[in-house]
Amino acid sequence: MQSIKTTIGLKMNSKEDISEYFRIEGFSSPRFLKNPEGPGTVIIAAFPVRIPVEKAPKGLRIAPFAAANHYGEAVLRMKRISGVLREKTGMSKSDIRLFCNSTLEEKRFAALSGLGFTGRNSLVITREWGSRVILAGMIIPFETETDSPLENGSKAGALCGSCRRCMAACPTGAIESSGVVNRDKCLQSLTTDSRRIPEWIMEKWGNRLYGCTICQDVCPFNKNVVSPEPDGIAGDLGMTLSFEEVLVPDDPVLKKSLKGTALGMSWITAENLKRNAMISASFCRNRIEAESLIPLVEPYTGHPVISYAAIWSLKRLRKTAGQQESPLLPPVYRQ
Ligand code: SF4
Ligand code: SF4
Repeated sequence: MQSIKTTIGLKMNSKEDISEYFRIEGFSSPRFLKNPEGPGTVIIAAFPVRIPVEKAPKGLRIAPFAAANHYGEAVLRMKRISGVLREKTGMSKSDIRLFCNSTLEEKRFAALSGLGFTGRNSLVITREWGSRVILAGMIIPFETETDSPLENGSKAGALCGSCRRCMAACPTGAIESSGVVNRDKCLQSLTTDSRRIPEWIMEKWGNRLYGCTICQDVCPFNKNVVSPEPDGIAGDLGMTLSFEEVLVPDDPVLKKSLKGTALGMSWITAENLKRNAMISASFCRNRIEAESLIPLVEPYTGHPVISYAAIWSLKRLRKTAGQQESPLLPPVYRQ
């Protein structure tokens, strides 16, 4: 078995030292895994998501993992760890591959390394902090001492016992069997997806702007978890945005306002956020508020892609506002 110390031949750097660097940066204790996809060692850890204790203010709800830029923050912190490792071992920048929310099979790595196990909801439930975490890590170019997985940890639901709470609580029935989440039904996936949202799913939408965490909120492994509160996370949006903040600006202006936040990621389009906001608006049950939302939604009835959501939302809003149905003439999309 080679260690970083013997391989590189420079200053000390044991597995325990590396673990300590991760903990100092606010990660869980990392786990070490022989890279299943190539040479070297995968080091993977959990970064805790900040869970708000207070009630969310009114508005468009952002799931906690996206309310602040946890992904950006985790990468920033891993870059610092990588810098220390390079300094101590002589590795070059290109020797270390960082990953977080990447195309690598991060969830598989987490289960194989024993960082956690795969829950029935398909998410990794970590030993230290449950599933309200993001996964992050790095691949280093040599082998080191590795960790063992939990028995049956990769088999979705095997360590959930008789619990089926996530399946029962999912508003769209997206968890079709252990570990099988139908992305066509999953609100988490659909909030970022450009495909047309079926009406029966729009009816289950609620006040979401981005994300869904119901299958985590009900999970007993997330109860009474005390994870450190990561401080100083960049891109803090808070728990909600207002309808005006999302629906009034032109698309480029909206994206610019979200730069540096989790909603500023390239694959989250202004168009999708606006569609989500309009579906959410239709859940308003207050006449006065509905009246004030109608002019925000109306301009999108002529939108080339998301007019279906505007028309559907407007119908419901008008009903709440006690207004007569009126023909949507002419299309008035303004961008
Ligand atoms: S994220 Fe929401 S919609 Fe998706 S499986 Fe979980 S509870 Fe269901
Ligand atoms: S809610 Fe229950 S079944 Fe679902 S992941 Fe958590 S422990 Fe497993």
